[in-house]
Amino acid sequence: AKDEGRNNIKLFTPAMNAKVMRRMELEANLRKALEREEFEVFYQPKVELRSDKVVGVEALVRWRRPDSVVVSPDEFIPICEETGLILPLGKWVLEQACSRAKYWHDMGFDGLNVSVNLSPRQFQDNHLVDHVGEILAQTGLAPHCLELEITEGVVMHSVDEAIETMNRLSSMGVRLSLDDFGRGYSSLYYLKRFPMSSLKIDRSFVADIATDPDDASIVNTIISMSRSLNLQVVAEGVETKEQLDFLRSKRCDQMQGYYFSRPLPARELTELLEGLRPA
Ligand code: C2E
Ligand code: CA
Ligand code: CA
Ligand code: CA
Repeated sequence: AKDEGRNNIKLFTPAMNAKVMRRMELEANLRKALEREEFEVFYQPKVELRSDKVVGVEALVRWRRPDSVVVSPDEFIPICEETGLILPLGKWVLEQACSRAKYWHDMGFDGLNVSVNLSPRQFQDNHLVDHVGEILAQTGLAPHCLELEITEGVVMHSVDEAIETMNRLSSMGVRLSLDDFGRGYSSLYYLKRFPMSSLKIDRSFVADIATDPDDASIVNTIISMSRSLNLQVVAEGVETKEQLDFLRSKRCDQMQGYYFSRPLPARELTELLEGLRPA
């Protein structure tokens, strides 16, 4: 044990020290960023393949640093999740997304749904259901126009508690979507027990549908399974016409991806919607 102790001390090298320092600095900067309102919500359109209409948008948070660099959520959401900063940040994203969706409804795009990502920690927060209710009441957004995207990770602590939260949200009229479907292990089990209205096929399966017969067959199976379970199925990460043609031929419900549009700042999304408005 003595040796181990000595080894542990040796492990804490100057390089690691620097890493810890950088990490602490980043944490502090993220906290300030929230106070200074440096976060911004981008929106990526979801297109219904049957009608070619934009039927919804996914809210995706960005951090616009004071030096104007835009930081991707993959770089800060995990840290926010660990430190708990995800709770105030997530609530802020939800407020932004709901009030923006209401604004688009008032402009005449009244069928538009908005999807907001919830991390496991947000989902396990006892205040979540109340916050969602308050935000819907404050913004005046119809509950069925809000969709919450969750992953299997939300059941890390207790499946029963997670299902209870889902039931409370869905009895408010809010929709739930299972994100990153296929990436985890027990997807089918959860699919059977969760009160979901849609499922998103993970981008990693969509990437090779036009070239890899195995991926094509997996995606085809997920689509037909969703149909028989009465779930809307959304393909994410669609980047090419070939992928889109495949999804159309399999009667996938919706698609999202760079092929149609990248996530855009609210104002640019408004312009995109205006451009699509029937004359
Ligand atoms: P996600 O929920 O799976 O979101 C989809 C990601 O795929 C987004 O990355 C989006 O920009 C990207 N994407 C969309 N279309 C394409 C495409 O055609 N090709 C490729 N290569 N990528 C595409 P983004 O915006 O960087 O977000 C990354 C992740 O960060 C999200 O993955 C989500 O897990 C998390 N995240 C983003 N915003 C929030 C938030 O407000 N709250 C929480 N809890 N998590 C968030
Ligand atoms: Ca998502
Ligand atoms: Ca996803
Ligand atoms: Ca994800």
